[in-house]
Amino acid sequence: MSYPYEAPVSQELFDRAAAVTPGGVNSPVRAFRAVGGTPRFMVSGTGPYLTDADGREYVDLVCSWGPMILGHAHPEVVAAVQDAVTRGTSFGTPGEGEVALAEAMVARVEPLEQVRLVSSGTEATMSAIRLARGFTGRAKVVKFAGCYHGHVDALLAAAGSGVATFGLPDTPGVTGAQTGDTIVLPYNDLDAVRAAFAAHPGQIACVITEASPGNMGVVPPRDGFNAALKELCTADGALYVSDEVMTGFRVSAAGWYGLDGVRPDLMTFGKVMGGGFPAAAFGGRADVMALLAPAGPVYQAGTLSGNPVATAAGLAQLRLLDGAAYARLDAVSAEIQALVTEALGKEGVAHRIQTAGNMFSVFFTDEDVRDFEAAKRQAAYRFTPFFHSMLAQGVYLPPSAFESWFVSTTHDERAVERIAAALPAAARAAAEARA
Ligand SMILES: *Cc1c(COP(=O)(O)O)cnc(C)c1O
Repeated sequence: MSYPYEAPVSQELFDRAAAVTPGGVNSPVRAFRAVGGTPRFMVSGTGPYLTDADGREYVDLVCSWGPMILGHAHPEVVAAVQDAVTRGTSFGTPGEGEVALAEAMVARVEPLEQVRLVSSGTEATMSAIRLARGFTGRAKVVKFAGCYHGHVDALLAAAGSGVATFGLPDTPGVTGAQTGDTIVLPYNDLDAVRAAFAAHPGQIACVITEASPGNMGVVPPRDGFNAALKELCTADGALYVSDEVMTGFRVSAAGWYGLDGVRPDLMTFGKVMGGGFPAAAFGGRADVMALLAPAGPVYQAGTLSGNPVATAAGLAQLRLLDGAAYARLDAVSAEIQALVTEALGKEGVAHRIQTAGNMFSVFFTDEDVRDFEAAKRQAAYRFTPFFHSMLAQGVYLPPSAFESWFVSTTHDERAVERIAAALPAAARAAAEARA
């Protein structure tokens, strides 16, 4: 397709990037491969807006994939970072900032009795799985197709269908040995989970699930799904690991746990808790966490873990996320959802908006999307022209039909009006799309 407008400076940067970096990016989805065209190189952000290298401004509905929940360059977060930076950026020793962030997390998320800070969500899930295996003395891990837990070797297995299918690696470089203990099941399918436990009694270390999946688009758990997972795990002596890297501190002060109340044995966090810096965490039951080095024998470490600048940013952000902030996020999310539905409805475009708290995504389909297979059945070809029309009109959506949209507390009436103004043409482009 041809794109509504060019972005020459971004294209020049992209060409430079491609010469020195595979695909021109440091994380694949940024390359716009799913939608085509030139990825926008952003030079600054303020509140709900991003400005690209060509000088165009966008309303940002990606928010760095969730972390920028208070908008870009929030003055209090910036001040906390500036204060931390001037006192030195890394000591390789313990520091008060990491204690304060851990205390703030433990205070907000009741099942989080102890927490260990790391630098990325990937590290968090990798470490949680190692710990679950160490604690249980078991090897197997159950994950769900369409759930993303970072690029942990053992979890890069989403293919496979039917009951108790052993994971086949999704990517070259991950060996069968690395995924051989991974059991991939369809999401929202309790019978498949029961069958896996029946087939491998006493062998499953943990079930890891996104607390409410956002990485195949937003596909929330059916009522009672997480509770049943927890029960099945407990009955077999396995751990229930809830990945809240995306939902944690985003959908409520206590993340998805705050909405469904199912108590995980271990949890993982990232994104919002870092305030836009690389900070992530895993934690949960104190008796399980006690196995972690140096308290226990399960090794885990990190040169920049608990970094003073990252923890200052994360703590400043968490402190500002009060009840009013979550109410604001829910309200603006609902407002944008209603505008999207109105615009697509007017053009007769089949779609479904699915939500998890203030996270939502738009599926181009009639069906209730409850698993990855259903997500993949959507008319994703409609998304491409929809996306480019929004982009040309100054609204930055996630460059894929299989991602959540994210709002911030700074998405105000002016930002919403700009989204509303862009939607009719984008909906028309979606309606006119041909497979
Ligand atoms: C983003 C994400 C991860 C990976 O976090 P990184 O910081 O990108 O490594 C893991 N799990 C979930 C649910 C995520 O959304």
